[in-house]
Amino acid sequence: MENQIVRSSCRRQRVVLFPLPFQGHINPMLQLANILYFNGFSITIIHTNFNSLYTSNYPHFTFRAVLDNDSKDNNLAKLSSKGIGDLLSGIMLLNQCSEESLRQELDQMLIDSKQQQEPIVCLITDALWYFTQSVADSLKLPRMVLRTSSLFCLNVYASIPVLEDQGYFNQANSVFDEENIDLGLKNIISPNNERDFKKPEGTELVFDLEERVPEIPVLKVKDISNMRIKGQTDPTAKLLAKMLKQTKASSGIIWNSFKELEEPEFQKICKDFPVPSFLIGPFHKYFPASLSSLLEPERSFMSWLDHQAPKSVLYISFGSAAQLEKQDFMEVVHGLAISKLPFLWVMRPAIVKGSEWIDLLPNWFLDLVGERGYIVKWAPQQEVLAHQATGAFWTHNGWNSTLESICEGVPMICSPFWGDQPLDARYVSDVLKVGVYLENGWGKEEIASAVRRVMVEEEREEFRERARCLKEKVNVSVMKGGSSYESLQSLVGYISLL
Ligand code: UDP
Repeated sequence: MENQIVRSSCRRQRVVLFPLPFQGHINPMLQLANILYFNGFSITIIHTNFNSLYTSNYPHFTFRAVLDNDSKDNNLAKLSSKGIGDLLSGIMLLNQCSEESLRQELDQMLIDSKQQQEPIVCLITDALWYFTQSVADSLKLPRMVLRTSSLFCLNVYASIPVLEDQGYFNQANSVFDEENIDLGLKNIISPNNERDFKKPEGTELVFDLEERVPEIPVLKVKDISNMRIKGQTDPTAKLLAKMLKQTKASSGIIWNSFKELEEPEFQKICKDFPVPSFLIGPFHKYFPASLSSLLEPERSFMSWLDHQAPKSVLYISFGSAAQLEKQDFMEVVHGLAISKLPFLWVMRPAIVKGSEWIDLLPNWFLDLVGERGYIVKWAPQQEVLAHQATGAFWTHNGWNSTLESICEGVPMICSPFWGDQPLDARYVSDVLKVGVYLENGWGKEEIASAVRRVMVEEEREEFRERARCLKEKVNVSVMKGGSSYESLQSLVGYISLL
């Protein structure tokens, strides 16, 4: 970015960016904002008070709080809830009721920017803020979207109507009765696993859950069930359909991905989405995610990590929002004990449902942590993944974590919870082949076996070699002449001409 800083001294155009207020969406949006800043644009970030941003790392940006400023509004007060189901309701709610207030905010910003002779040329919003398209249209302001997950995931979401036509969601309905849903969003569906899978009395499964889906051969039938969608009338599917529609109506899509990672998916996106796509990621190759961390990363463990043998430590983190059931948590504890390897485990407060923090950990496990492990509330993840002692990453496959692991050439153990995570886990394990998917749940023996496969047994060399090749591809893509680098140049030109 250094040679582009020169351009920034004569900036004339402003871009307004609007992230969804969750860690995995905030990080890439602020990284993108920094990328655009160092390519000559002035930056305004609009954000909600819910999960409000620490602005001190960004003195060069202007921040404006929008939408949930009215503390008397009972609807918006719901946003303070922490359950992921409620968070989704919050997104839907803001999408439904915020049009007018955002229009007024943006209108004022447009007037101000004209007076300052620094016109706002583009609004970039998270794709899930679908309501912003009509606001932008009414103000004649071009809107681009940032997709914070994979191209593969969007292609699967776009196929929901086709999958429903083929009857896959009937199957999902029979698998996901309300009781199963109450078990938690993370349960993996497997006919071999009694606890995870409860087929309701009197229902017959038409598809074999382990079979591939002919329409999307990367997927297994059970991956569709794991999307937790009951067909097109499901609230999540409706949200996704609106997101897709308004993405197609936008002026372009910016992706935190790179072409070599998802080449066939890119071809499909170009065919199905009639707007330009810019694959300029991985963003954190330019600016670390920790700059926009909502939690303060701990560093006390770094000297411990420095003293571990190369590639000997299993790093475990399930991101910023996932919550484990108590029984799964105990399987993790036992799985780590059986695996006999050093580990660094990020345990956010309340990561286990109904528990404050590490209160459920048995004393014998705390002793074991003293011998060969470390538990932290939040880590500087990129640094941990780049550390020579880190041998594998047990992840929930949030897209940022997945990309961060790929960039450091670290093989993964995949335990997705919900949303795009099961899709990205499948892609990591079956297409990229740089991870083991714990697709039959959280049994301690399966956990220990997966850990051994990626870290101990002969097979680990194959995982490492493929991960190393991917890391090299990333490095090439962000260098001059590389696909991401060139796409970024196109994006900068495109925005300045909007
Ligand atoms: N992260 C971090 N420290 C941690 C755990 C996560 O900095 O201890 C960061 C991680 O680097 C990533 C983001 O939080 O950038 C999590 O995003 P992701 O898309 O992986 O998952 P989400 O939190 O959205 O489920």
